[in-house]
Amino acid sequence: MAALGRTINFSNGKSVPVLGLGTWESKPGDMTAAVKNAVTAGYRHIDCAHLYGNEPEVGAAIAALIKDGTVTRDELFITSKLWNTFHAKSSVLPALKTTLADLGLDYIDLYLIHWPMGYKEGGDLLPADSTGKKLYSDVDYVETWEAMEECVKLGLTRSIGVSNFNKKQLERVLKVAKVPIANNQIEVHPYLPQNKLIEFCKSKGITITAYSPLGSPERPWAKPGDPVLTEDPKVKTLAQKYKKSPAQILIRFQIDRGLIVIPKSANKSRIEENFQIWDFQLSPEDIKLLESLECNGRICSSSEASDHPYFPFHDEY
Ligand code: NDP
Repeated sequence: MAALGRTINFSNGKSVPVLGLGTWESKPGDMTAAVKNAVTAGYRHIDCAHLYGNEPEVGAAIAALIKDGTVTRDELFITSKLWNTFHAKSSVLPALKTTLADLGLDYIDLYLIHWPMGYKEGGDLLPADSTGKKLYSDVDYVETWEAMEECVKLGLTRSIGVSNFNKKQLERVLKVAKVPIANNQIEVHPYLPQNKLIEFCKSKGITITAYSPLGSPERPWAKPGDPVLTEDPKVKTLAQKYKKSPAQILIRFQIDRGLIVIPKSANKSRIEENFQIWDFQLSPEDIKLLESLECNGRICSSSEASDHPYFPFHDEY
């Protein structure tokens, strides 16, 4: 069981498998089979979110895998994320309870505030007016954090963290946090290596999970002619050098930099391929080479909310 030794620790001492399965943008119905295939291949970490609309599918897979003896609950590491329309203090616990019911679990391992921006509560997950302009709430994510801490006290999540938070936003939470910020889940890949934010988080004992590590080729807003990370000549050259696929190089890049990484696939052979990364390591020079592809190539810019007071990407990091 290669996966079991491949963990790092949060500052609260809990361990997390460094490689997990992403679950965003799967076709309806795909994720039950994907999670079953992943856990059978050795994955023990699944990255979920209420927004993805498929937590019941993930839950069905978990229930089946536990029932047939493939894994026990405590061998799995399950993450979910609080969506932007549930930032009010009174909304956080009910939102987590919905996620737990969808996943069929009585606790999760990590609950993250998905974005620092709050959206109008009580209706659509992406509330907008008739012109398409997003509708916001003015809830401060620091208050949301305080409600997240209650979820830990109730035993409904083992650890808590954030996602898409910049340095200033992390500092504001750090000032009040009584429960440590275990993790910041952010976009990381060679076109956006995030060295400064990673360095800052490391200095505060906050682990990083790298999302969209393969460049998210199926993102709904991809345009013809956009660069494709898995086809980048430098990535392909390294793939030849290490006799691995471009995706395996991109996954190893994160692990060799001390990060957690959550590539998504709904395809059985690619799920397996993405897990075959334990028998090699990138040299420090090759890590630097990949970092040199930096081009501020952010994919998940959430630009439709760029006028939100808590939009994270106006700052350098
Ligand atoms: P990824 O960079 O993981 O890319 C996923 C895409 O790559 C899919 O289209 C998949 O297709 C394809 N793919 C997977 N493996 C291979 C392979 N070996 N070779 C070639 N293509 C491959 O993108 P995501 O944006 O999905 O990011 C990963 C996860 O991070 C998400 O699923 C989600 O869990 C999380 N995330 C979190 C965000 C946040 O705000 N916190 C934002 C975005 C993502 P196929 O399925 O057909 O294999």
